[in-house]
Amino acid sequence: MTDLLLRDTRLIDGTGADPRERVDVLVADGLISAVAPTGTLPTGERLRVVEGRGRTLLPGFLDCHVHVSTLPAKDPMADVLAPESLFVLRSVPHLSATLDAGVTTVRDLAGADSGYRSAVELGLIRGPRLRIAIRILSVTGGHGDWRTVEGVALDTGPGAGAIADSPAEFVRAVREVLRQGADWVKVAATGGMGSPASHPESGGLSGPELRAVVEEADRHGGVGVAAHAQGAAGIAAAVRAGVRSIEHGYQIDDATIDLMGERGTWLVPTLSTLTRPLSDGLAPWVAAKRRTMKEAASERLHAALTAGVPVALGTDAGIAPHGTNLTELALLVEHGLTPMAALVAGTSGAARMLGLEDQVGSVVPGLRADLVLTEVDPLTDIAALADPDRIDLVVQDGRAVKELR
Ligand SMILES: [Zn+2]
Repeated sequence: MTDLLLRDTRLIDGTGADPRERVDVLVADGLISAVAPTGTLPTGERLRVVEGRGRTLLPGFLDCHVHVSTLPAKDPMADVLAPESLFVLRSVPHLSATLDAGVTTVRDLAGADSGYRSAVELGLIRGPRLRIAIRILSVTGGHGDWRTVEGVALDTGPGAGAIADSPAEFVRAVREVLRQGADWVKVAATGGMGSPASHPESGGLSGPELRAVVEEADRHGGVGVAAHAQGAAGIAAAVRAGVRSIEHGYQIDDATIDLMGERGTWLVPTLSTLTRPLSDGLAPWVAAKRRTMKEAASERLHAALTAGVPVALGTDAGIAPHGTNLTELALLVEHGLTPMAALVAGTSGAARMLGLEDQVGSVVPGLRADLVLTEVDPLTDIAALADPDRIDLVVQDGRAVKELR
């Protein structure tokens, strides 16, 4: 592998530190090997030099909530009738577009099984490295229950919900997804907007069921639990049970905001999905639930973000569009983060949430060389990072996977 020198860049290293002007970053054997003032590093013959003057260098971004095999505004009937191969094959352009957007790591929270993760690791397809949950664990009638009244399954593929209804059944369900290679366990701590039979304010796991999931996942080498949680009571129950991340968090109350701060529970607010236009091809029942929740949710998430709850970037791409993941950064700023805090939420913060902080998320010697070079100044125009055309170069594990044009 040719070594790479990114010369004379403006560095925002992802740790929250102030930008540094005129910095060279040397990449060798897939790792960041040195960060130094421009012109001070030795150059050699095997070195490819990329001129970075006028551009900002950042860590590759992490999106902690995606569904790579899912399409936004899907026709549920089309998905029921589609063969499994269509879910797999359409993920290929989704993963590619995500990488081109500057995202080099994602956590897929239902849909992708271990074959997707392996295909990226083996270099069979281009895409962000994957951490996977495979499927969502849900109670009967909850967010993962996609059956008709008569019990006909409307969801297909490995992402279909796993239904369980007691602590013992949830322990078995946890063991089953871990047996299949899950890095994370995902539960439906409340109902949701997209599922036919559940509602954000009900339909989640009981306290004992949540605790059984967290305890069993933790017993397997400290696997984390991500809780889909929208209504206030379900969010609070999931935080008390010890989940590592609250996904959505739309109706979070003040007491739970405080508790998350105390316990260090992460919030992944998926604003890209919340703020999606109601006209955007949503089924009528989804639009109705979303309409009643949207404004209040914006206000509650603003309260959580300004209170300093740990936050990690996640879009719910697959429900939101693929390949414009960094739209979420400007939305985080609209909801109370500074631009620098939003960048941290998408880099070192997300890496910490995923337990990958010693591998990715910062431009620090010794970490994997996942890097983004952009003409955009994210501190003055963070919304512009959402445009993949303005992500000039993407480096993953030391290789340029999106080239300068
Ligand atoms: Zn989701």
